Amino acid sequence: MSTNFDELLDELVVANHILANEKVVDSFGHISVRHPDNPNHFFISCSRSPEIVTRDDIMEFDLEGNSVDGSTLRPYGERFIHGAILESRPEIHSVVHNHSLSVIPFGVTGTPLQPIIHTGAVIGQNIPIWDIYDKFGDTDLLVRNMEHGRDLAKNLGQSTVILMRGHGCSVVGSHIKGATLAAVYLQISASVQLQSMQLGDIRYLTPGETEHCTELFYSDLAMDRVWENLAARVTRES
Ligand SMILES: [Zn+2]
Repeated sequence: MSTNFDELLDELVVANHILANEKVVDSFGHISVRHPDNPNHFFISCSRSPEIVTRDDIMEFDLEGNSVDGSTLRPYGERFIHGAILESRPEIHSVVHNHSLSVIPFGVTGTPLQPIIHTGAVIGQNIPIWDIYDKFGDTDLLVRNMEHGRDLAKNLGQSTVILMRGHGCSVVGSHIKGATLAAVYLQISASVQLQSMQLGDIRYLTPGETEHCTELFYSDLAMDRVWENLAARVTRES
């Protein structure tokens, strides 16, 4: 295996630890990355909490969620989120799924989650809400098969974030850092909006501001600086 390949999987492990340390994920939640040489495969941990994921836990799947590396580890039940989104969005290479408590209120009330701070502009102006009940009726709300996953991906469309009613959200990026940091700032943005709503009318970012701030967010300048700090924070706080 190439050095770049090794670095990619190491980065996936660090992303797991960052998401846990920032409380975006708890015992549940996960992050995937598309195989760099085979777009029809992706990597994700076995069914473990992100905080304790190691390189040995990483499994390889095809986009339908079938294990392809002969691993006997137990997979995440909701791996279909990742396969279906990667299937529908060729330009996306990493997907985060989490149950962030700051985000869930917006998915259950329909109150729009909107860009409110410059660092959170990345969430975008129109965030869809997927309600599993609409098509599948009473379920345990989990994305348990490709039918669920493809319906979620269809509702995500070209957005960066999708809220999942009574469950959590999924966030996409063109690379691991992008998806991870968008998930971190989605949670911060939702928290700021919840606090601001208690004080009065909110002046949100304009569509133009959202565009400019999103461009800055994905710049190497911002991305590398935040990643370096959050990765170091994992080490400092462990
Ligand atoms: Zn979930």
